[in-house]
Amino acid sequence: MKAFEYVSTASADIAVKALGGVDGAILAGGTDLLSRMKDYVTTPKRVVDFNPQSVVQKETSPGGVPTWTILAGTTLADLLASKALREELPALWQAASEVGTPQIKNMATIAGNLLQRPRCWYYRSGFGLLSVKDGKNLLREGDNRYASIFHTDGDALFVAPSSLAVPLIALGASATILGPKGERTVMVSSLYQIPKRDSDRELTIGADEVLTKITLPAPQGKNATYEARQKQSHDWPLVLASVSLRFDGASVSQASIVIGGVAPIPYRAVEAEKAMFGKPVTLETAEAVAANAINGVKPLSGNVYKVALTKTVVKRALLAAVGNRYWEEV
Ligand SMILES: Cc1cc2nc3c(=O)[nH]c(=O)nc-3n(C[C@H](O)[C@H](O)[C@H](O)COP(=O)(O)OP(=O)(O)OC[C@H]3O[C@@H](n4cnc5c(N)ncnc54)[C@H](O)[C@@H]3O)c2cc1C
Repeated sequence: MKAFEYVSTASADIAVKALGGVDGAILAGGTDLLSRMKDYVTTPKRVVDFNPQSVVQKETSPGGVPTWTILAGTTLADLLASKALREELPALWQAASEVGTPQIKNMATIAGNLLQRPRCWYYRSGFGLLSVKDGKNLLREGDNRYASIFHTDGDALFVAPSSLAVPLIALGASATILGPKGERTVMVSSLYQIPKRDSDRELTIGADEVLTKITLPAPQGKNATYEARQKQSHDWPLVLASVSLRFDGASVSQASIVIGGVAPIPYRAVEAEKAMFGKPVTLETAEAVAANAINGVKPLSGNVYKVALTKTVVKRALLAAVGNRYWEEV
């Protein structure tokens, strides 16, 4: 690992100042950053150990809608310990429960999870986000079994790694960011972009900005996450889907359907969302809606299997939201 300066603070203001004018990086739980530093993929000159509180709470301001607030330093273990969160935000709870191991959940924070960098093996081996070498895209021409199946016309073929981004986007969460020019709030979906050049980043947060909290309105319907893994161990999901549904009687009046593991950004299945409108969630409708989730798919040579997996994962997430887990009854 390269030598670096070290600053430790619980204050977001101090963290922003410490990041200014140097090639710096925030250290939260370190479960992603330290492994990149050990592999020389990330070589910051200054590491800012930002350790704000771990707090999850639901508040209702007078006349306002109930809102969940999750501070940046909240560990996945603390998120999972909240009974109220498990009941009201099962999509988020389920996604967090599948991340890594107990040790990782104890260290990993919500901010670090959202801002972790791609797991693409070419990126992690120093070939950059677009993995282009001598004019060839190594991921397109090489082993791309875990790569994207959507937005594959460009050179960014890695998949966005954060499991928690998927339910947070489905639930309409926002991120508050502090930078040298003050505070700004963006939708969690806006934290991500598809890089076009190797010098672009897949994250929109500036190098001198700090994510301070996540907020989301208390959902008014049902929500769930379902994911498929290669093996039941501490690995990232192949594909996961989160849904958040509002109902008018038995029929869906609003649907958010977001898929992870399929694109360089969390992928919003807009056509499936439209197809769900006005229907009850049954085995038949969920299957038909899930078929819309793969419209426009363009898999690579080694990941055609993800197309069928995506359909199944979306179908099961929809059914899980209404308490139908037929696959567990076998
Ligand atoms: C074996 C294993 C299995 C895993 N499985 C999964 C999985 O299934 N799903 C999944 O989503 N993840 C998985 N992970 C990844 C893990 O969830 C992340 O490494 C972790 O959430 C990162 O959080 P952290 O607090 O340790 O972040 P750090 O490693 O400290 O930071 C990660 C990145 O975020 C930046 N950062 C952190 N906090 C802030 C902030 N407040 N403001 C600005 N930038 C910030 C850092 O600079 C760094 O670039 C797995 C990891 C391992 C090792």
